[in-house]
Amino acid sequence: MTRPEAIPAATGDTASDSIRTSRRALLQMAFGMVAAGLPLLSGRAEAAVTAARLQAVSRNARLTLTLNDTARWRLTATTRPARLVLHLPGTSWRGGTRLSSAGPVQSASWNNRAKQLILNLRGPVQVARAESEGSQLVIEIGPGTQAGFARLASGTIAQGNAGGTAIATRDLPLVVLDPGHGGKDPGTIGVTGTHEKRITLAAATELKRQLEATGRCRVALTRSRDVFIPLDGRVEFARKRQATLFISLHADSAPGARGASVYTLSDRASDALSAGLAQRENRADLRGGLSLPPVSPEVERILFSLVRQETRAGSDRIATTLVRSLGGEVPLLPNTHRQAAFAVLKAPDIPSILVEMGFLSDRRDEAALKRPAHRAKVAKALAEGIQNWLARHQASLAGPG
Ligand SMILES: [Zn+2]
Repeated sequence: MTRPEAIPAATGDTASDSIRTSRRALLQMAFGMVAAGLPLLSGRAEAAVTAARLQAVSRNARLTLTLNDTARWRLTATTRPARLVLHLPGTSWRGGTRLSSAGPVQSASWNNRAKQLILNLRGPVQVARAESEGSQLVIEIGPGTQAGFARLASGTIAQGNAGGTAIATRDLPLVVLDPGHGGKDPGTIGVTGTHEKRITLAAATELKRQLEATGRCRVALTRSRDVFIPLDGRVEFARKRQATLFISLHADSAPGARGASVYTLSDRASDALSAGLAQRENRADLRGGLSLPPVSPEVERILFSLVRQETRAGSDRIATTLVRSLGGEVPLLPNTHRQAAFAVLKAPDIPSILVEMGFLSDRRDEAALKRPAHRAKVAKALAEGIQNWLARHQASLAGPG
């Protein structure tokens, strides 16, 4: 019996030595052209990295890329293994084959299939700078803390496009938006049958879009679908991600009332309307849901009141800012900033507010909130207020006093 000869898998693989050699020569030529920045395919302008350099600058590593004008980029991180990943979708790499190690960057390699530049790190880092101006993208990386690096890994660190304006970075603050109600809990049902849970989700989605467009913060939604989430689950969502700000969006019922209003936490309600709102809201889930690290009750109480005091001051400031920005755009409820014991505002360490964008119990508010254009207007006012608050908040963290 004769065994049949193995059939070559593909025609190119019959592989005589001479063919192997010439293929290698061709590949080398191609790599040479890539390294020299010559386009392999002439014709349309494709996004490309045309030069790359990694250098040590005191204790930091500085990566400088030259991009042509169509390249987009996004920087993320992973903790295990410790890496920074620069995503350059649809981009070809003509930045040379070797980037040496520098500072906290152990090695760098281009993954052409994923279109990612992978920076392998010696340990946790902080990103001191990541911005593109004109054709230059500069990323400066310094040694950082474990906690800070974990925060970086939780989302996009920075992004931009060549030729666009520079985008400031560092770990961007996280704003958690909480669309009220959802799933089996429709919230208030309006005069013409509008479900509050739909209005809150539509408004939160629009607000997320507007905030992300500024490139100055990250945004996460407690829910992006029609699902039920208990109130403590919403608070925990924000705390787990170490959010900078928590904003719960609603459009409840309050007989005889009309216009937007903003609520902060207080054990004692500022008025009967607020007390009623909080009572109805909290009925969705009666558990307060606050888990603190295990310390003695005495210490816990002291820590709690200190943190809480700071948090309340922050909540009051964002409420004031939002009332001001909303006032220019939409009708307001008199005494627009009110207080009540809303369970969803009970994170001790995150400034938290609840916005009633209007009341579905009011025919005019309901009609307005059903319109995407009106919701976009509300979102614009909120986004402006949030931006102002974040800018001042960041400044107070950066400088003394
Ligand atoms: Zn509600």
